[in-house]
Amino acid sequence: MEARHLTKHFPVHQLRPSRVKQVVHAVEDVSLALPEATVTAVVGESGSGKSTLARLLTQLITPTSGELLLDGLPVGTGSKARREYTRLVHLVLQDPFSSLNAVHSVRYHLERPLKLHGHAGNRDELDGKVRQLLERVALSPADRFIDKFPHELSGGQRQRVAIARGLAVEPRVLLADEPVSMLDVSIRLGVLNLLDELRERERLAILYVTHDIASARYLADTAVVMYAGQVVESGPATQITDSPAHPYTQLLLSAAPDPARAEPPVLRGRGSPPSLVNPPSGCRFHPRCPFAMAVCKESAPPALPVADEQVAACWLHTTERTAAQSKPLATAAADAIGTGS
Ligand code: SF4
Repeated sequence: MEARHLTKHFPVHQLRPSRVKQVVHAVEDVSLALPEATVTAVVGESGSGKSTLARLLTQLITPTSGELLLDGLPVGTGSKARREYTRLVHLVLQDPFSSLNAVHSVRYHLERPLKLHGHAGNRDELDGKVRQLLERVALSPADRFIDKFPHELSGGQRQRVAIARGLAVEPRVLLADEPVSMLDVSIRLGVLNLLDELRERERLAILYVTHDIASARYLADTAVVMYAGQVVESGPATQITDSPAHPYTQLLLSAAPDPARAEPPVLRGRGSPPSLVNPPSGCRFHPRCPFAMAVCKESAPPALPVADEQVAACWLHTTERTAAQSKPLATAAADAIGTGS
């Protein structure tokens, strides 16, 4: 699956009619690929546009511009194409307490997609398929769970049911929007490991939306860091967390809990996310960036190569500056962080 130049602007409803129509620049020119059998993490703080991006990928909301492709072909807009797309691309929501219907059993939740997509068969076949789904998400023995209601399950078990509901129609893409953020810390790892197993066993392309960069490193092959609706850095997840090139990624990592850190964290940035109605000019991170230069306020940086498959949208990584300083700017930035400049 591929997204090309996706942009989403939401109109602002104004109390007083005005000639200037305001919009929220929720997602701006985002391109990414979700290859088979890989996990791609989209990382960012609240309001960075990552959940809007997941909803654009499911076609729950229509992009202002940009396109979606499956197997290299544009996704159709007719009702038949839309139904097929719904089967192939499934969204797992953040809150397993509200994504399941409290008055229906686990059996109902898993039978429904099978029936809707014509995979039900006769009564025995349907029962067998529901039990199989429960086994696939490690809710076994199935007898223990099949007739339970959501309130009788733990948060982790509910999230597993929500994932099983998605698997019912044999999707190829799973979009998991903060799937563990509402779960107790002790059961998060189990759900992350389940996603990892599904990637390998079922060869799913998984998008893992999170604000937790440490879990992105644990689970993902590729990480895409978003800030104020834009992608600011992308590349292999371990590379990005070991050698973050964009000051915003460095800020996220400095704020992540680290059991090995004896001292309190020193945050590599200041302030809070900007308004997306009037985003800052040039680089949207410049009001918070400790390295901001004059050019940062004037022009938006393009995606610049930093290392193998790692790119960062930051003027610190232009070739001219690299040559002038005769050392890689990633190192220059790291040096500057180290000296607190
Ligand atoms: Fe900071 Fe400038 Fe890089 Fe933006 S472009 S992250 S303001 S140095």
